[in-house]
Amino acid sequence: MKIFYTDHYVLPLPAGHRFPTAKYSLLRTHHAFRDHGEGYCVFNSSAIAALSMQAEGCARRVAILDCDVHQGNGTASILADEPTIFTFSIHAAKNSPFRKEASDLDIEMPDGVGDADYLDALEQGICHALAAAQPDLAIYLAGADPYVGDRLGRLSLTKEGLQARDRKVFELCRAASVPVAVAMAGGYSNDIADSVDIHFCTVETAASFWRAAQRPTSLPAARQI
Ligand SMILES: [Zn+2]
Repeated sequence: MKIFYTDHYVLPLPAGHRFPTAKYSLLRTHHAFRDHGEGYCVFNSSAIAALSMQAEGCARRVAILDCDVHQGNGTASILADEPTIFTFSIHAAKNSPFRKEASDLDIEMPDGVGDADYLDALEQGICHALAAAQPDLAIYLAGADPYVGDRLGRLSLTKEGLQARDRKVFELCRAASVPVAVAMAGGYSNDIADSVDIHFCTVETAASFWRAAQRPTSLPAARQI
């Protein structure tokens, strides 16, 4: 897959704006539509990645597993007519975007939901998505914003709960023999160090699964004596 990087695009912002362009030019995630950006997102990286992987013959079917606390409305819209790309979003029902698009599967969580209820719903959603999509590739958006200390979240997951979320996604995909690409998504903790911790833990967890996959799956035959 070829990777392209460019910052040569125009954001038509009004004079005197306080939009932090230096920061958000680096973000390309799930609220961007085909014809406009939205919610801090200029481009939709997961939709572009899924379509590019198909165009280059690297994957026939893709599942996008969006666990950012905000619905993946741009992704759902862009891929609505793509029957070989399954869009799944688990998010806070009362959070933005307030006009939601229909993913192939949406699970809405009530305000304040904690680890146990979220993880139960997540497992059902991922199992359903993998069974329906039969994907060759999963793209996992690991938002840090379901965290209890997030300013824009509305849910109450702990750091341990978010690590359990990551593990559950990787375990279920491994059980279905589906490789996973992981992307950062939102994170707006009162203390930015918490968002960093959560994202870093996702990377560590992904790396531990990758290392485990490199190990031989069966022990050498016992030497006969
Ligand atoms: Zn978000």
